[in-house]
Amino acid sequence: MPTGQQTKTQKIMLQPLVSLLQAGYYTTNPDAMAYSSAQAGMFILIIAIGIIGYIVQARLQSVFKKYSRVQFPGGLTGAEVAEKMLRDHHIYNVKVTHVSGMLTDHFNPKTMTVNLSDAVYSSTSVAAAAVAAHECGHAVQHAQEYAPLVMRSQLVPVVQFASSAATWVIILGLVLLASTNNETVCWLGVGMIAMSALFSIVTLPVEYNASSRALAWLESSRTMQGVQIDQAREALTWAARTYLVAALSAIASVLYYVFLILGRRD
Ligand SMILES: [Zn+2]
Repeated sequence: MPTGQQTKTQKIMLQPLVSLLQAGYYTTNPDAMAYSSAQAGMFILIIAIGIIGYIVQARLQSVFKKYSRVQFPGGLTGAEVAEKMLRDHHIYNVKVTHVSGMLTDHFNPKTMTVNLSDAVYSSTSVAAAAVAAHECGHAVQHAQEYAPLVMRSQLVPVVQFASSAATWVIILGLVLLASTNNETVCWLGVGMIAMSALFSIVTLPVEYNASSRALAWLESSRTMQGVQIDQAREALTWAARTYLVAALSAIASVLYYVFLILGRRD
């Protein structure tokens, strides 16, 4: 489920705005002009993706709200669904716990806990079961050392450092580029932003796979059946789309900076 991802995405989206503030650069070099138009194109694309992201996020919330009111036969709470899915996968070292907030559900591999939010933990709705099973999907990935999840975990500390420093490194790089014509620091900054993009790309198989594990288990264990499986799938699909939008935005941000630097070459 979306957690820190949204704020990270917003941060990545704001970075181009920071660079746009550094106006006052004019060129007659045709190559530089072509790159500058490509850069403007990327900027428009990032704004467009931002708007799509807003719509997808709103749709996700309304779909969750809708299926939070739909009960399914069996009457298991989110927590009970989670316990059952873990047991069925012979996972006994993961605890199901309660966490406050909305859509804050997540699996924590450090504490080996599946954390379920207020709306999920004690709710017997289709949405709650879908979210609980999705988070257990991550616990199963962890137990089976699913490669994209392992790679994602390894990227976490790198991205935490890189994303906080990237904007400043690029600003410093642009100053050095203007004064000394040296691009090295600029490309270092782009490399740091590229790490965030790589992280959002690796997140995609992790999220899609957790949802497909969840739906396969909900169906095979007969925890959920028929039309309710389709409702759970719909909810999880909208959740996955928020990650898709975040990845596209991150890729566009990297390209924006690449064109920005190429456009400032003499
Ligand atoms: Zn997830």
